[in-house]
Amino acid sequence: MATLPNEPHRLTQSSTVAIIGAGLSGLACGHQLASHAVDVKLFDKSRGPGGRMSSKRRPAATLDLGAQAFTVRDERFARKVAEWQAAGCVAPWPTSRYQASASGWQTHNDGQTRYTGAPRMSALTRYLAETLNALPNASITLETHITALAKTAAGWQLHDSQDTIHGPFDAVVISAPPPQANALLSAWEPTLAAACTAHPQRGCWAGWVIFEDPLPPLEQVASAWHTVHTQHPVLRLASRNHTKPGREHQPESISLIAQLDWSDVHIESDSERVVQQLLEAFMSLLPEHTKLPNVIELGAHRWRYAQPARAGEQSYLYSPSGLALCGDNFRGSRVEDAWLSGDELGKALLG
Ligand SMILES: Cc1cc2nc3c(=O)[nH]c(=O)nc-3n(C[C@H](O)[C@H](O)[C@H](O)COP(=O)(O)OP(=O)(O)OC[C@H]3O[C@@H](n4cnc5c(N)ncnc54)[C@H](O)[C@@H]3O)c2cc1C
Repeated sequence: MATLPNEPHRLTQSSTVAIIGAGLSGLACGHQLASHAVDVKLFDKSRGPGGRMSSKRRPAATLDLGAQAFTVRDERFARKVAEWQAAGCVAPWPTSRYQASASGWQTHNDGQTRYTGAPRMSALTRYLAETLNALPNASITLETHITALAKTAAGWQLHDSQDTIHGPFDAVVISAPPPQANALLSAWEPTLAAACTAHPQRGCWAGWVIFEDPLPPLEQVASAWHTVHTQHPVLRLASRNHTKPGREHQPESISLIAQLDWSDVHIESDSERVVQQLLEAFMSLLPEHTKLPNVIELGAHRWRYAQPARAGEQSYLYSPSGLALCGDNFRGSRVEDAWLSGDELGKALLG
């Protein structure tokens, strides 16, 4: 249950709302509001929707750079995931999971079903963006970095980095991670700004490597292993993208998610150096003298605001002035948290 600072600005069918951020939480909020005839406009600074559920499309393969898979615990989310599955943009990934330690690789299956976007993680947010954009009362504008908010007699205005002014709007939902949200609202809402400060974020590097041939088989490990978790000081998780639904025909392609402590220290490092270090860490999990196949292409993505430093207790926040916050950060650090936060905020604003 969210602890609310005060009553929200209640929306009606003639209300106009801007949502900053077209990640899963912003899209969930947008769908909730637009399906109740509220006029909704989403803005995102990136080239595509999806935020931390984005995927990298290269000529040889597609790799997930943020969320690798997601689990389902809440019944409302389960119903939504079933809808997405029926629409074909999500599929279960019957993960073959391992944990690597000094004593070798052990199976690490926890019995939970994991899902991914199909045929890539960003297929889900792309589907949500397209179905939202298709509604007459909703639109998504990409490559638009909102740099400031202004309160006028007619409502809230959004200023972007190209000096274009959008609005006025009756309400503004910010679904960006708290440090980015704080930069926009600190001049207007000390209570919401304080909530952002109370939710610091940690950065994380995500490397990716595409190989010409499959990785060599490992003794006593299923040849089609999907993920390996590690306690290695550099590498937290390696996951094989070509084992995910819809990507069976692409070559061996791994995502290498760094440890948070290591990322804290190396967040300003050069991406070429980072992916080499992640690959070396991955090789250290394999038997000595293992020869890796030739690399087609590799790289690394820096997530400056990857996940909250500690679990939150709220789902969303709002103020009577019409500003509101949603995103995974206020309740947890998972895909399910992001969807629930956006959906619940939408419902709360509608009253
Ligand atoms: C490396 C990594 C691995 C992960 N693994 C998992 C996993 O295995 N399972 C799981 O459940 N979760 C995982 N997560 C977490 C999951 O990705 C997030 O919980 C979820 O995607 C958050 O969605 P969101 O909408 O709250 O935020 P975001 O996806 O961050 O969306 C915020 C959006 O706001 C936009 N934005 C920010 N500022 C502005 C601005 N000023 N103007 C315009 N647009 C702006 C951004 O471009 C972004 O698109 C992982 C995350 C990372 C980084």
